[in-house]
Amino acid sequence: MTRQAPLIAELVNLATARLRGGSAVRPAQGDELAEAFAAQLGDSARAALLAVSDAGERLAALATGLRAALLAGKPADQAAHINDLIRRYGARPYLVEDVGQPFHLHFHGSGDTWVEALGGEFATALALIVDGYGPGRFGQCQAHRCEAVYIDLTRNGSRRYCSAACTARAKTAAYRTRHQS
Ligand SMILES: [Zn+2]
Repeated sequence: MTRQAPLIAELVNLATARLRGGSAVRPAQGDELAEAFAAQLGDSARAALLAVSDAGERLAALATGLRAALLAGKPADQAAHINDLIRRYGARPYLVEDVGQPFHLHFHGSGDTWVEALGGEFATALALIVDGYGPGRFGQCQAHRCEAVYIDLTRNGSRRYCSAACTARAKTAAYRTRHQS
């Protein structure tokens, strides 16, 4: 399930962040959002996503729900948001056998399109991260001028930035602050 974490953060950041890595960005919408997110996926998932006619609108709705869950703050609020997403996307566990791989567990949603199936997977992934790592594993990048979210799967829960680039920017800024005056 933790393999979903980078994809969840990327979807939320593509669709909702207005500042990223120190620069103003325009959140992606519609077909642009669908294509930008599809570029993160493997071949079969990309084709399935782009076959959904209004994928961009459906992805934007999913991203909004995920962002609210990731940034809910208090553990009880976070859990309520994640439970709501699990219900909304109709996540249900079942075993799948991919070619050449043993059976493994999926949590596809039961909604209309591939996007709702993905929503079920993502909502369950967040629930499993809370269950396995505890609360406080989601946040917004602490670097200057960045609204990107991150999911912290480090052993000691030390992550504060969305990317290596923002970590480096924050270190540089802290160094400058220390060496001023
Ligand atoms: Zn950042």
